[in-house]
Amino acid sequence: MERISRFCTMLLWTAVLALVANTLPWDYARAEELNIVTTTTDLASIARSIAGEHASVRSICSGREDPHFMQGKPSYIVMARDADLWIRVGMDLEIGWEPPILDGARNMAIREGGPRHIDASERILRLGVPSTKITRAMGDVHPQGNPHYWLDPLNARIVAKSIADRLSRLAPEYAGDFQKNLTLFRESLDEQMFGKELVAKVGGARLWGLNLKGELDAFLSAPNMEKALGGWLGRMRPFRGQKIVTYHRSWIYFANRFNLKIGAELEPKPGIPPSPSHLAAVIERVKTEKIKVIVLEPYYSRKSADLVASKTGARVVVCPISVGGQPDTEDYPALIDLIVNRISKAF
Ligand SMILES: [Zn+2]
Repeated sequence: MERISRFCTMLLWTAVLALVANTLPWDYARAEELNIVTTTTDLASIARSIAGEHASVRSICSGREDPHFMQGKPSYIVMARDADLWIRVGMDLEIGWEPPILDGARNMAIREGGPRHIDASERILRLGVPSTKITRAMGDVHPQGNPHYWLDPLNARIVAKSIADRLSRLAPEYAGDFQKNLTLFRESLDEQMFGKELVAKVGGARLWGLNLKGELDAFLSAPNMEKALGGWLGRMRPFRGQKIVTYHRSWIYFANRFNLKIGAELEPKPGIPPSPSHLAAVIERVKTEKIKVIVLEPYYSRKSADLVASKTGARVVVCPISVGGQPDTEDYPALIDLIVNRISKAF
């Protein structure tokens, strides 16, 4: 009964909002600035850095919510209806809740493939692309690969460029500002990744190139080079090759970029809650491989992590993976900074 009445309230709201939406003049919500809507706060933060004063940016997810399982709300449809640009993570992360929002919004330009729709995953470096045919038995495995790519700062750099390029096409009068903001964003990110001194010496783009080719270690072994390394990579460097346990398969990009290994996951399969038999196997592995750190996002129950910790002596680190997930994660660089701090401290 309660469900039915809740459903009726929802229907009523949708009808009222549709009415309001259709009576407002189209330009009402549009000042001169662009109205950008992103699915997640991480994309919102990057978009804000690039768009600067020329856009207002809002996110559907709050950063404290699990982006896999959002509930559709009429207010999201209104946000989408008024959007000049829609940016999503893609790779099926939002598959459960994005389609009803875009259907309801009736804003053709922001639909998938439209001129005002950015799938931020388009140019990123992908991990976890399955090499065999996906079956339901594999859990929540995404056919295009693992969608948690924003935890790799290199991917943030790539996403920033996609956003700058599209904004430049949509508002060519501000293209100079967007490209300038992109340069600033990248320079700042590079310095935070490798440290100011090393970036000044070598250049950010070259460091990423070396990193990608797996040649950074050799490069840093030259005299005075390792000393110049700072930033996130410098802070994580002592823990190279260490294993961590994660709750969900959301840390593989971070682990890959900072040379950590995922020793085990508390979920037996992505999206499937921990079971006693799986946890028993994880406890064995944590013991034999002497894994010291268990990482999980604030929106998961920490019961199973605490259990594994109590049996093995590993430390539980609760760490957000999105901007706004906890205090001191006000933008993308602050988020990565917090993650690097928490994980390096735990080691
Ligand atoms: Zn996931």
